[in-house]
Amino acid sequence: MSHQGFEDYFTEPAILSVATTGGLHGKEANPNLPTQPEEVAADVAACEEAGASIVHLHARDEDDADTKSVERFQRLRDAIDERCEDVIINFTTGGDYPPEERLAPVLDVEPRPELATIDVGPVAFGRDAVRNYSRAANELFAERMAEAGVKPELEAFNPGHLTEVNHLIEEGYLSEPYWITLILGMQTGTLPHPRNLINLVENLPEGVVWQCLAVGRYQLPLTTMAMAMGGHVRVGLEDNVYYRKGELAESNAQLVRRAARIADELERPIATTDETREILGL
Ligand code: ZN
Repeated sequence: MSHQGFEDYFTEPAILSVATTGGLHGKEANPNLPTQPEEVAADVAACEEAGASIVHLHARDEDDADTKSVERFQRLRDAIDERCEDVIINFTTGGDYPPEERLAPVLDVEPRPELATIDVGPVAFGRDAVRNYSRAANELFAERMAEAGVKPELEAFNPGHLTEVNHLIEEGYLSEPYWITLILGMQTGTLPHPRNLINLVENLPEGVVWQCLAVGRYQLPLTTMAMAMGGHVRVGLEDNVYYRKGELAESNAQLVRRAARIADELERPIATTDETREILGL
């Protein structure tokens, strides 16, 4: 059979990322949302066991409020290092804080995370909050992460954000492979529809490795679609607190186990942490 361009699908491992907690909702949304370091670490250990090779982390204070405290990120990191084998740590830099505060955990926690996010463009949250993720901040974050040996995960909330990705590439802020999260279903983000995921993927620049993040009930169909397209996926309670309609998820690991089963049924091998490092050039 001649080469059709899709054979890689059967051999390219699927990277499973888990976003355990997030910075927006708390246990009122789902009592199983892990917030304190020990809770998060126990859940991450189960996620790793189920096939997750990357964990995306936000820190909470003692009262479960979102925080950029380096000390709280350090406690989270230490708890995970204690409980987990070799999971790849990814720190958020998102949130409504000055850029230096958003960067501090990435630069000051030891050891540093292998990955950290850059939200590459503005997005609305709620009725009157807009996160001003600016080009200037993107450049600053990319520069500081490159100096620190941390690979950026570029979060694109809508198609126009790929303009900012292209800018960072053209100006030499990033090195290949570029690791991009395509986000569907956030408030002013890309509408969560299959055609839009295809469109985003078709508009990616050369040299990109991508994963799909879809919010709420769209998590299941769109991450499944991403796996069938040969992409990678992120699941977890940050993005979706339900397992199915009307049924809250029991844990992050429950969502990872479902993603792993789907990958298996789709004949995608699941990436080990070493394979993930190789794919992302860590
Ligand atoms: Zn996040």
